[in-house]
Amino acid sequence: ASAAEPYDVVVVGGGPGGYVAAIKAAQLGLKLLHRPRHAPVLAHKLTPPPQTACIEKRGALGGTCLNVGCIPSKAMLNNSHLYHQAKHDFKSRGIIAENVTVDLGAMLKAKNGSVTALTKGIEGLFKKNKVDYIKGHGAFAEPGAISVQLNDGGETRIEGKNIIIATGSEVTPFPGIEIDEKQIVSSTGALELQQVPKKMTVIGGGVIGLEMASVWSRLGAEVTVVEFLGAIGGAGIDAEVAKKFQSILQKQGIKFKLNTKVIGAEKKGETVALNVEAAKGGKEEQLESDVVLVAIGRRPVTRGLNLEAVGIEVDNRGRVVVDDQYNTSCKGVKCIGDATFGPMLAHKAEEEGIAAVEIIKSGHGHVNYGCIPAVVYTHPEVAWVGKNEQELKDEGVKYRLGNFPFLANSRAKTNADSEGFVKFIVEEETDKILGIHIIGPNAGEMIASGVLAMEYSASAEDVARTCHAHPTLSEAFKEAALAASTGGKAIHF
Ligand code: FAD
Ligand code: NAD
Repeated sequence: ASAAEPYDVVVVGGGPGGYVAAIKAAQLGLKLLHRPRHAPVLAHKLTPPPQTACIEKRGALGGTCLNVGCIPSKAMLNNSHLYHQAKHDFKSRGIIAENVTVDLGAMLKAKNGSVTALTKGIEGLFKKNKVDYIKGHGAFAEPGAISVQLNDGGETRIEGKNIIIATGSEVTPFPGIEIDEKQIVSSTGALELQQVPKKMTVIGGGVIGLEMASVWSRLGAEVTVVEFLGAIGGAGIDAEVAKKFQSILQKQGIKFKLNTKVIGAEKKGETVALNVEAAKGGKEEQLESDVVLVAIGRRPVTRGLNLEAVGIEVDNRGRVVVDDQYNTSCKGVKCIGDATFGPMLAHKAEEEGIAAVEIIKSGHGHVNYGCIPAVVYTHPEVAWVGKNEQELKDEGVKYRLGNFPFLANSRAKTNADSEGFVKFIVEEETDKILGIHIIGPNAGEMIASGVLAMEYSASAEDVARTCHAHPTLSEAFKEAALAASTGGKAIHF
């Protein structure tokens, strides 16, 4: 596209929200829709110019998720779990692997390899779908126009009939505790530690805190998690699951200080002293460790976008304000993903990317916010979809529960991996599924069935009457549904 002919869609940010939106926009070939019916046949045979551009400053596509989030953290979680199993679990399974040790350098290299393969893969998808990939920092010049400071130097101006802001999020800093990514780290530094710390303190018992605590604890660090609230797991977790989760992680060696407030940190040479006190005030304590991880949440990235110049409104938490079609307060500009409302999850950003582009194309696009799964990739995994018990109590909804422990599931028993349970919450009167909460092996894969069931407004009986293969962990899912629909009568428990 030239200055005279703007792109149909310009996406700012190449994370899961932005790159998916760009690919979908190109696939929908928005420009082709407007080609006059009487256009000569030959015109259809010519390759149309790219009508979608994606501006990304990082130097790699995939955003937080692929570069410093979902993917590298899962590489470290998977490999640290294998090491932990080899060291502590193999013998009881009849496997002798003596002198199992960690080569941290090689483990980090394997993680980096996964990241590069996947980010390059997105570049390939851009080429395949004819998305223009513009490497640089974008900022609004005026409504409908973005000026880009190119990574290779110089500046260019890109015009778009539709602009989608997908600039994502960044670590929320802790006032007074400066992140140096060596001794005091964010999740980014925690994925790059060059040696296993002897002691590590994690501020925040949410998703990042627990996943990173698991990685370094498995590799040999003594980890303490300091959490302001009275429970771990972050927003949306069911209280019964959170309690079980904490007791399992404690058995694995992770220590918790709940209801505890961090006051400040002092560097003392090789170590960092963290000053904490009871959340409601009280005795102060000092926790000394080699590494402190700050994991108290993330905040939207909007700085440097020059939003003020085009009148785009941001709320008091820094989120770009949008309506139910992702429109910002500037005509022709939408916003999706971590930069706006809702849970900060890659799959939520992707769904919004698709919906926003479909709305541009046809006026219709939809995300079912009641059916967005959440997964914590510890071992065992924790996963849920829909409402938890407390939320339903607060709403005054009458519900029934169906609970099935993995201890009563033949496959989990056989695998000697049977901690946790599946819990269905169903509407008392109708049996409709309102929420599913799982802590157990493979919970993150299993929850997909729950999302599908809820997407189709299934009842617990619908799931209970669906044949599940034997012997699989999924039978626990079916049995929990059966327990919910029959008032507790599972077959194997
Ligand atoms: P981002 O992925 O943040 O992408 C935004 C992109 O925009 C960035 O690449 C940035 O460089 C670019 N950008 C910003 N401003 C500009 C500009 N002005 N010009 C050009 N480019 C710009 N979510 C999950 O669902 N599952 C997980 O397992 C998971 N694990 C995580 C682990 C960690 C350690 C972290 C930190 C996050 C994790 N998340 C996970 C959250 C997930 O990464 C985010 O929800 C997701 O990346 C949001 O996607 P997004 O496209 O909105 O933004
Ligand atoms: P989070 O919101 O999940 O957890 C932050 C935790 O820190 C909360 O439990 C909060 O109570 C606690 N906290 C806040 N201030 C505190 C203080 N001063 N002292 C002690 N504790 C404090 O945030 P996160 O773990 O940083 O993760 C950020 C985002 O990234 C989340 O939105 C999450 O959805 C996403 N993420 C997702 C995954 C996944 O899907 N598996 C993995 C990692 C990150």
